Amino acid sequence: MKSRIVLLGPPGAGKGTQAEILEKELGFTKLSTGDMLREEVRNGTELGEKAKIYVESGNLVPDEIVVEMIKKRIKNISGAILFDGYPRTVKQADALASIIDIDLAISIDVEDKVLVNRIAKRLMCSKCGAVYHLINKPPRKEWICDKCNTTLYQRDDDKEETVMNRLEVYRRNTLPLIKYYDERNKLVIINGNEGTINSISERIKAALEG
Ligand code: ADP
Repeated sequence: MKSRIVLLGPPGAGKGTQAEILEKELGFTKLSTGDMLREEVRNGTELGEKAKIYVESGNLVPDEIVVEMIKKRIKNISGAILFDGYPRTVKQADALASIIDIDLAISIDVEDKVLVNRIAKRLMCSKCGAVYHLINKPPRKEWICDKCNTTLYQRDDDKEETVMNRLEVYRRNTLPLIKYYDERNKLVIINGNEGTINSISERIKAALEG
């Protein structure tokens, strides 16, 4: 089975949700740069102070900061590894290729109108990073995380204007990575528009076996 995986896709495509499933069911270690950055911002670290303005406006944090952050985390990981939200630029992909050999990039393809609706109804846990959706994946208790009982919140960057900017940033900076991994014969595209969360994760699991 493929064990060094990159998840690609626009904001709201379901990367975080699918990453959680793969972590739980197949034992992947998930590295989510979005979660890491939000934690740094919340904790008011030096890195968080630098990253804050970018994260809140839906722009990309500069490559040097993110690459350093991911390098530090990779060191302590052995076994299957899954990148969620990284790389987001060709520079980041090159930096990743210089430290680890990626087996497969899975791009979750979703239409814009579906994305906007999902993001507007997304809830998150600040403690464990679990992702919920008011309609498609509600928590068992209203606004409480199923896993760790923490109160859920809506991300500041999930406001409509910021979402539009994030989609634009995705198209400009991250979409070229589809071609990047395709040219290296490492790309699989999964339809993330239709079907339940589970049926999409079944498609992803099949790609990992393939
Ligand atoms: P989404 O996939 O829903 O847009 P993420 O949680 O992955 O959200 O990222 C949230 C924000 O964190 C991004 O808008 C960006 O500011 C920052 N970020 C996350 N990952 C990266 C990265 N690899 N490079 C630069 N900025 C990043």
